[in-house]
Amino acid sequence: MEPIKKIALITGGIGGIGTAICERLYKDGCVVIANYRDFTRAIKWREQAKNWRQNHLRLGIDVKIVEGDVSDFRSTSTMIKQIQDEMGVVNILVNNAGITRDAPLYKMKPQQWYEVINTNLHSVYNCTRLVIEGMIAQGWGRIINISSINGQKGQFGQTNYSAAKAGMHGFTMALAAEVAKKGITVNTISPGYIGTSMVMAVREEIRNQIISQIPIGRLGNPEEIARVVSFLVSEESSFITGSNISANGGQFMG
Ligand code: NDP
Repeated sequence: MEPIKKIALITGGIGGIGTAICERLYKDGCVVIANYRDFTRAIKWREQAKNWRQNHLRLGIDVKIVEGDVSDFRSTSTMIKQIQDEMGVVNILVNNAGITRDAPLYKMKPQQWYEVINTNLHSVYNCTRLVIEGMIAQGWGRIINISSINGQKGQFGQTNYSAAKAGMHGFTMALAAEVAKKGITVNTISPGYIGTSMVMAVREEIRNQIISQIPIGRLGNPEEIARVVSFLVSEESSFITGSNISANGGQFMG
C-alpha cells in the first residue's frame, strides 16, 4: 500500500509560530499549506521563505498559501474546497490562528469578546468540521490545537482569550474520544510566552516582568513549539491523543 501523502494546513501560517511550524513540517516531508488573510504580506512571506537558503541560515521552503478568514465558516469552507480540489485531503490540521483584544471585563466591549472567541475558538470548529470527514475516510489524521498557558491559568485582562483557549482544549478532548478508533489523534499544545510579534508588542518593562516569572528565565522560541507539532504529527506519537502539552519554561505546572 502506498504511504499516505501528508498534507498539512496551518492556519495563521505566516505569523510568528505559524512560520516555524511551516518550516518544520516542510522539512519533515509534508506538503505544507499556510493560511493567511493579507495577500500582499503572504506573497512576500512566501518569496522570503523560498530564499532562506540564500542567506545560508535556514533551508528555503516551498509552501503553498491559501487565503481565508478562519473565523468565518463560509470563507473557511471556500478555502478548504480550494485546497481539496487542488491538492487533496488535508490530513494534518494545525489550528494556530489567534488574536488578542485585551481589557478587564468591566471595560471589555462586545466586539473585543466576539472577535477573540470567533478567531480563536469558532475557527477550530470551522476548520476541523470541514476536514474531519476526509481524515475519517483516509483512516489517518492529526489535529493540533495551539492554545495558551493563559487558557490553563487565566490572565488579567484576558477573559475573552482565556475562555477561548480553555475551550479549545475541551474541543480537543471531546473530538479525541470521537475519532480515536479512526486513526486520528487530536491534541492541544499550550505555549507559554514565545518571542513573536504578539509578545514583542508588549511594553518592554511588562515583558521583563513576564520573563522574571518564567523559571527557565527567557521567552520561548517559535521553533520550540514547532518541534512539539512535528512530534505530534509523527508516528512516534500515535498513542498520544486528547492531551494538553505545555511548553512554557516552567511558568505553569498544573
Ligand atoms: P501572530 O500574530 O504572529 O500570528 C497569528 C496569525 O494568525 C497571524 O498570521 C494572523 O494573521 C492570523 N490570523 C488571525 N486571525 C485570523 C483569521 N480570522 N483568519 C486567518 N488567520 C488569522 O501570533 P503568534 O504566532 O504569536 O501566535 C500563534 C498562535 O499561538 C495563536 O493562536 C496564539 O494565541 C498562540 N500563542 C502565542 C503565544 C505567544 O507568546 N506568542 C503564547 C501562547 C499561545 P494577521 O496577521 O492577518 O492578523
